[in-house]
Amino acid sequence: MGVTELDPADPRTAEIAANLAAVRARIAAGCAAAGRDPATVTLVAVTKTFPVQDVRRLLALGVADIGENRDQEARVKAAAVPAARWHFVGRLQRNKCRSVASYAVLVHSVDRPELVAALDAGARQTGRAPLDVLVQVSLDADPARGGALPADVPRLAAAIAGTAGLRLAGAMAVAPFDADPLPAFGRLAEVAAELRRDHPDATILSAGMTGDLEAALRCGATHVRIGTALLGGRTPPVG
Ligand SMILES: *Cc1c(COP(=O)(O)O)cnc(C)c1O
Repeated sequence: MGVTELDPADPRTAEIAANLAAVRARIAAGCAAAGRDPATVTLVAVTKTFPVQDVRRLLALGVADIGENRDQEARVKAAAVPAARWHFVGRLQRNKCRSVASYAVLVHSVDRPELVAALDAGARQTGRAPLDVLVQVSLDADPARGGALPADVPRLAAAIAGTAGLRLAGAMAVAPFDADPLPAFGRLAEVAAELRRDHPDATILSAGMTGDLEAALRCGATHVRIGTALLGGRTPPVG
């Protein structure tokens, strides 16, 4: 059953391979339009709601960076496919921090101080320090979508930088719902540039999903998080 190597006869693998080629072409075109080198962009495949077998297919196709937004689902998949590089991209609860720290290589969604201490402790207790984390920035002040207000980012960043177990690696955002993503990602780029003035190693900018990856690339995204364009629609839609 396990797809450990590319099996061209598996129709789902062929479907994902075609989707991947289209996404890679979008990234290449978006980078060309922005005068950027596509080699500076990491594709994170967001596999939430899709089976672990799809994660194996992605790995066989050369995509090793895998994103999930719920710990309950992520930890099971991470245990099943430890060879993937697991990214945690969803809203984070304090009581899930230790678990997330045990498998994630990058936590994209640190948006409040209480998570800092919990992730720091989790990373050290599970032997995974230093754990790379991003500050999630709110671009629409919508609490349901998460993120720290831009004014609160410097303090949150300083708290992360002050831990022994975490490394501040950059910033992340989700575009506002139903609004032009370009000005929002432009604002994110400003916040990220301010962050780098105090923390020169915080060079990751995680932005761009299926609907807005070109806008994110124009604004300097180094990590795009793509679900639907790679794997198809989610039913029922989650997060
Ligand atoms: C689901 C999700 C994605 C991927 O979204 P698509 O529109 O399916 O590409 C990216 N980032 C986060 C935080 C997500 O929850």
